[in-house]
Amino acid sequence: MTRGLAAAAALTLAVVTALIALTGGGPASVLRHGFLLPVVALALAFGRLGGALGTGAALGLYAPVVLLEIERSGLTPETIEGLVTCAVVAGVGALGGALTTRARRQRARYETILTVQRALAGATPLEAALGRLRTVLIERLRAADVGLVVRDGAREVVAGADRVAAGSVAAGVLAVGTSVFVPDVGEGRRPRRVFATPLLVAGQPIGVLAVERVAELDRDERAALDALGVHIAVALENARLTSRQRRFAEELERSVASATRRLEELDRAKSAFVAVASHELRTPLTALQGFSEILAARSLAPEEVRRMAGIMRAEAARLGRIVSDLLDLSRIERGLEPTLHRVPVVVEAALVATADLFRRGVADTIVVDCAPALPPVDADPDALERILTNLVSNAVKYSPPGSEVRLCARRAGAMVEVAVLDRGAGIPGDALARIFEPYYRVPATSTVRGTGLGLAVVKALVEAHGGVIHVESARDAGTRVAFSLPAVP
Ligand code: ADP
Repeated sequence: MTRGLAAAAALTLAVVTALIALTGGGPASVLRHGFLLPVVALALAFGRLGGALGTGAALGLYAPVVLLEIERSGLTPETIEGLVTCAVVAGVGALGGALTTRARRQRARYETILTVQRALAGATPLEAALGRLRTVLIERLRAADVGLVVRDGAREVVAGADRVAAGSVAAGVLAVGTSVFVPDVGEGRRPRRVFATPLLVAGQPIGVLAVERVAELDRDERAALDALGVHIAVALENARLTSRQRRFAEELERSVASATRRLEELDRAKSAFVAVASHELRTPLTALQGFSEILAARSLAPEEVRRMAGIMRAEAARLGRIVSDLLDLSRIERGLEPTLHRVPVVVEAALVATADLFRRGVADTIVVDCAPALPPVDADPDALERILTNLVSNAVKYSPPGSEVRLCARRAGAMVEVAVLDRGAGIPGDALARIFEPYYRVPATSTVRGTGLGLAVVKALVEAHGGVIHVESARDAGTRVAFSLPAVP
């Protein structure tokens, strides 16, 4: 194709020259315009080089005709026309060639940019994307080698080398953010040129593009490489934003799924709670009703009356605790803090009172162990009583009958720490994180009476005092629930 065109151009030039000679038309012959055709064709086909060759050939054939005529008859209108034609042929050849070369370069750059975008598109890891980009750039830029460095958070991802060597051209460009041109790196017989340009995002270097070439790397091409650096930086930033957006969407999806799961669980727990709570409320009510009917209908021995009254008192207390827990929980769920009326409270007295409440004759199984000279705590006495009854009730409920329960208190800095220890079955590790959730009950303990509200209320009460609560437990090793309350200064 290119050879055919060159041959056709040469033939046209020869034919035009021959026709001018044969017709004896001289420099002003109308046939002289025929020289423009092959010159334009060569310039369009081969750019600058084609334009120059076409112009050279056309002028080589036509200029002698003009010059001979000038010699013969001096400057006449014909010879001046001839000179103008020479100038037009030279101008068209040079201009046409230059424009074609420039258009080609622009197209090549545009294609390179598209290649860059294609290489960086998709969800591949940065290392792989840079490797791919390096390969296509070596080919498109006709480079001996291409190096790419991109900062990704604290690390630097490098393609074309193991790492950025300290003091290297790339390190300098990354630090300063301006391009560097080395006309010869001094390896090999022919000069090896290196041009390194920063990849800039919002004026900040996020990486470096370094191109090594054995052939010429002129100013125009260096400017084009600077522009390519900007495009690569934008494409990288886009890829990064896309992957960040994707990660964010996945995270959001996971959070929504887990929140939905939690809500479903809570919903199930609430439904289960309604069943459990009705049962829990009905049991003491049935006992109260039954015993009160017996007391009303029969005349019993005083010890029997006392025994029944004791049971009724315990069941009424139980009923009261459940109702208080329910009221507290409904306040907590509405986002309200428990109302506290704080006064100095003597911890040992509160522990002894709670222990007495649960002892029911087995005197030695609930032990109170207070450190000497314990300061009083700044607490609401009712709230403290509810905290303690809930914890001691759990310790008794979830331990074998007659096993020891200890209530300990000691000073811990500005706080007083109270701990309730039992030697029961303990709480399995996976349930530990959930026992303070409202309605949650460890499945293994479902045969023991309970609502799953106690610890949620206890935690809210302790935290309302500015204290903290935590549980240590292991299966079959017992449980230790410790909470702190501020000591009175
Ligand atoms: P419940 O009314 O069911 O006792 P809580 O909120 O007080 O509700 O306790 C939540 C769950 O934590 C209980 O159902 C029980 O499984 C477990 N738990 C609490 N305290 C203890 C303990 N001392 N020993 C073993 N398990 C316990």
